[in-house]
Amino acid sequence: MKKTRKKPALRSDTTVMDVGRNGREMYIRAMPSCCLGALKEAVARGSDGRRLLSMECPECGREWRITSSLDERVLERFATHGGPRVGGGYPAA
Ligand SMILES: [Zn+2]
Repeated sequence: MKKTRKKPALRSDTTVMDVGRNGREMYIRAMPSCCLGALKEAVARGSDGRRLLSMECPECGREWRITSSLDERVLERFATHGGPRVGGGYPAA
């Protein structure tokens, strides 16, 4: 029997930040497909009790943070970071 692991569809109102580039916030649908796939995998693996601060795409090496989400599975898996709105700056990664 084939084991196929279903990747969950994530809520499209989840936003992420591209840490290594310019910290721009974007919706997950704007992510490169490799990164979106990696995010889905991370969510599919479920929580081991610790929430991740960020996620690195194994394919392209970009690092992502979740800035906001209303998706319970995402919130269970990742700590969310408010976007760089407060004071106009944000800490270096
Ligand atoms: Zn990627």
